[in-house]
Amino acid sequence: MITISYLHIGIDDTDSPDGMCTTYLACHIINKLKENGIHIIGYPRLIRLNPFARFKTRGNGGVSFKIKNDDKADLAKEIVLDEVSALSMFDCDNTNPGVIFFDGEITQEMRDYAFKAIYSFITIEEAEEFGESVGCEIHKFKKGRGIIGSIAAISLPLDDFTYELLAYRIPENYGTKRQIDYDSVVEMDNKTFPDTFENIDYSEDYIAIEPKTPCPVLYGIRSNNVEVLDDARKIVKVSEPIEDYCIFLTNQHTDMHIQKADNIAQMKQFGCYEITATVKDIPHVIDGGHMFFTVFDESDEIECGAYEPTKNFRKTVSYLREGDIIKLYGGIGEQNTFNIEKFQVIKLNDVEYQNPICECGKRMTSAGKNKGFKCKKCGNKIKSSEKVPFTINRSLKNNRFYETPVSARRHLSKPICRMNF
Ligand SMILES: [Zn+2]
Repeated sequence: MITISYLHIGIDDTDSPDGMCTTYLACHIINKLKENGIHIIGYPRLIRLNPFARFKTRGNGGVSFKIKNDDKADLAKEIVLDEVSALSMFDCDNTNPGVIFFDGEITQEMRDYAFKAIYSFITIEEAEEFGESVGCEIHKFKKGRGIIGSIAAISLPLDDFTYELLAYRIPENYGTKRQIDYDSVVEMDNKTFPDTFENIDYSEDYIAIEPKTPCPVLYGIRSNNVEVLDDARKIVKVSEPIEDYCIFLTNQHTDMHIQKADNIAQMKQFGCYEITATVKDIPHVIDGGHMFFTVFDESDEIECGAYEPTKNFRKTVSYLREGDIIKLYGGIGEQNTFNIEKFQVIKLNDVEYQNPICECGKRMTSAGKNKGFKCKKCGNKIKSSEKVPFTINRSLKNNRFYETPVSARRHLSKPICRMNF
């Protein structure tokens, strides 16, 4: 039996808020490797980590790919290190690239490490110690924070995954307005959704394939399969040159950051969870347009937030009322508030206690404290002061999911259109 040995390559933290993008650097490196007769196996991977990490890179994601571990492996390493040195945004204090080479099989220990990087935090020291213990070849630039994500990027198993096709601009156009034809993106969405998704935010009327930062990416099309991307790309019209394209296999839109919590007491700050709980109070808005409400279970209660950037999602949240049982998906941030990414209605509380209806059909009014009810129309009186249950109509529906708009969604959040995957 012949076992093929692979060299895994992980790269992270090469970009800054002002430019570059680790995916672009990876695409560039992959081309250089190809020119030297070195071909990567499968698609490169874009792996997003814990959205609450404090010193995160812009999108908080590392890139990895693998090649055959043969006599060209040393040349490949040289090319990777040269290009990371040449193209990383070293001027930015928060850009601390890290490169990892690993030959061999990814172990369970490494998979566990990757999940830890998604669920919680890993320090540079911890990553370095771990990397050395499993036999990674570690290259740190400046503080080398990128090794944290690089090890995770090569190690994470992808039971669920999506693809993203990234189109890159020519450097002369970096920072200028992107020239993407809106109608062509609508057409692409009409023809390829739900194989592709998050192309347009119809509620905010903007092109969601277009990044908001001045990075080299012209657009990114997200999909469930790789076949549709070619069609989608051909439909989108742009009036500026495209330098290159690259398709990444990714954990984006999989909810991989979400852990199932048995109860509220289990949930920790900076963790992301799925939890079923009961609404305690009616949602209310505070200054700045943020909306809050509290949910509880037998263990504890927690304040939930739908922040201003979630726009119309707040309106949906405002339809919740006390007693509703809902399954919430989100993460606990700085203020210890559970930021809601989406929720599913498990059981609506559609009972409201109201004054009784009189025999004549008119709703009765209170006859005074503890004096029962009286009818203003026919004069009928009843002695009991007990209000009676009525079934009310609700704007929300049992079992349905409700989510934040595309504009406010995290890379890792699974959109409702993928919930059956
Ligand atoms: Zn009456």
